Amino acid sequence: MDLKKYITIVPDFPKEGIQFKDITTLMDNGEAYKYATDQIVQYAREKEIDIVVGPEARGFIIGCPVAYSLGVGFAPVRKEGKLPRETIKVEYGLEYGKDALTIHKDAIKEGQRVLITDDLLATGGTIEATIKLVEQLGGVVAGIAFLIELSYLEGRKKLEGYDIFTLMKY
Ligand code: IMP
Repeated sequence: MDLKKYITIVPDFPKEGIQFKDITTLMDNGEAYKYATDQIVQYAREKEIDIVVGPEARGFIIGCPVAYSLGVGFAPVRKEGKLPRETIKVEYGLEYGKDALTIHKDAIKEGQRVLITDDLLATGGTIEATIKLVEQLGGVVAGIAFLIELSYLEGRKKLEGYDIFTLMKY
């Protein structure tokens, strides 16, 4: 299936010069959403995944159906102040300033094999922070899956040494 035809490119969102890749037109098509999910499940199957981890909010949209299909759990990574129990935190750089991602301290057990999911790989900063959270809890990042990779931003370089799977490249 040609998944790119379900992605809507929105010029100048959220600011001028950005060609935003809108995945909602893939998600609202049952056939395309199922196909994309199944492709990631197939990639993850031989990796003996114990748990799926994804950053808010679109990492949930990709990761939850994959976790369900694999028959494993899902642990959310969220912005600071959103998770209700004890968390660990990693700060990461944004274009302007800093942001922080958190995960519940007991979300991952030592040695568990983790699949990380998100909708889109841009500079790699979000996933680099997510990897740090998983590894600080003793998890092993067995694979990372995205719908979309913006190759020209070279996010892969930041994630060198990790197994990365993407369904579409721009
Ligand atoms: P990175 O940290 O620079 O790799 O940015 C990736 C994050 O930004 C992901 O969590 C995406 O959801 C979001 N993002 C960046 N550009 C786009 C886009 O064009 N469409 C949808 N999400 C985007």
